[in-house]
Amino acid sequence: MPAPSTAPRIAGRLWLDFVNTDDEHHGRRTEHLRDFGAWARWLHEAGVLDLERTQGLERRAQEQPMGAQAALVDARRVRNALRTLAERGATQERARDAAVAEINRILERSSGTRRLEAGAHGFARTFRTGGDVFGGLLLAVVESAADALVAGEVARVKRCGAAGCARVYLDETRNHSRRWCTMADCGNRAKAARHRARQQARPAPRPAPTPPRSRPSSPASRRRGP
Ligand SMILES: [Zn+2]
Repeated sequence: MPAPSTAPRIAGRLWLDFVNTDDEHHGRRTEHLRDFGAWARWLHEAGVLDLERTQGLERRAQEQPMGAQAALVDARRVRNALRTLAERGATQERARDAAVAEINRILERSSGTRRLEAGAHGFARTFRTGGDVFGGLLLAVVESAADALVAGEVARVKRCGAAGCARVYLDETRNHSRRWCTMADCGNRAKAARHRARQQARPAPRPAPTPPRSRPSSPASRRRGP
């Protein structure tokens, strides 16, 4: 089994974790969906695909590389639209409309069977695609985004406040105070940067006060006297 995905899972919603698979963190860009297998494994780790289906898909991808590549390209296209929704959907109607068009494009073409299945971690809704083997892979992601729009949640989606970090997340704090993708990482770095800035802004130490004029001269200078 290949190494597990290192994509961040900090967003609180599937669609936002999906957006973060195009990751910019500490100023470095990482594509976590670098090939179809990486995407299938990401879906598996997110709980969207069971192991059997994931392995089946990876085999099919080897048999049909063009179909798998086209599905991956489509996934990245949807991801771009969802990033725009995450970053500007609360304020820009155009960003929202473009995302809704992409969401509907995926919903409309997905045919298959919905099921409810009992698993090791409780019940999960699953979807077995009919027809195109790679079709429907985006369904859980776009449904998560659709749920966010229905619930009016998009206004609470934020982008990490750290420079060089493009991770988005749902701010679920009661007073809407979450500022970082993770406190342990970007939050602490920002705190350290603020501390350094304060140190640098601090005025240089004042020179030692000159002795008052009335003070008697030192024994050394007195000895030099007449
Ligand atoms: Zn961050």
